[in-house]
Amino acid sequence: MMLDIDKICFGYAGVPAITDVSLGVNAGEIVALIGANGAGKTTTLRCISGLLPLGSGTIRFDGDEISSKPSHFISRAGIGHVLEGRHLFSHLTVRENLELGLSAQAPDAQMRHSLDDIFGLFPRIRERQDQKAGTLSGGEQQMVAMARSLLAQPKLLLLDEPSMGLAPTVVDTIFEVISEVVRSGLPILLVEQNANRALELADRAYVLEVGRIVLSGTGQELLGHDDVRRSYLGR
Ligand code: ATP
Repeated sequence: MMLDIDKICFGYAGVPAITDVSLGVNAGEIVALIGANGAGKTTTLRCISGLLPLGSGTIRFDGDEISSKPSHFISRAGIGHVLEGRHLFSHLTVRENLELGLSAQAPDAQMRHSLDDIFGLFPRIRERQDQKAGTLSGGEQQMVAMARSLLAQPKLLLLDEPSMGLAPTVVDTIFEVISEVVRSGLPILLVEQNANRALELADRAYVLEVGRIVLSGTGQELLGHDDVRRSYLGR
């Protein structure tokens, strides 16, 4: 496994948010983590990228233990994280935001995504290079956030709710880009409330409920699972 998470726990001020979460991502895979509001999806991603300190458990990446390493170490090791809410520098232009991604490249990165590739993936971003990031639409901001992470040439990408608050046609665009990125060979761990879209795309998926993994399987298996259909797919 490229990313191998074994029984991690984390609590906010002693209140458990995730308990004994184990999951993995293989090379070339897209893996979805779905669950209701407050299930612990964002917390799980933040533990992986070192933004929150683990209470217990271990995380291995590319064979090395990265549990409890600082976030700058983990990003240089090749884990990119597109945060929920995008977190662009709103007073900088689109191009300046993208250049920050280029400057964050891992030392051993094999240059996979150039600025031109990125503009190929996101044509709307090319047109808006000189616009201040804070004036972009929500969908455009999501595209710039993903583009910035890709330019850092990660070996694995964590995506936190990329479709949040976006209109359906924009969600289509974002999901098309995600599948293109996976086809290019970059593995993704995708957190989504839009379970339908996430499971359709995912090779494998996990369901998180109140901080625990309660189900896992292929995307297709979970799409057909009665509990998943009732609780997350509304059908
Ligand atoms: P959502 O889909 O709403 O973003 P989530 O599955 O990502 O939800 P988390 O954000 O990981 O869930 O939250 C898990 C639990 O931890 C929730 O009960 C939440 O209230 C709690 N929590 C999250 N952040 C904090 C914080 N900074 N301080 C205290 N509790 C927190």
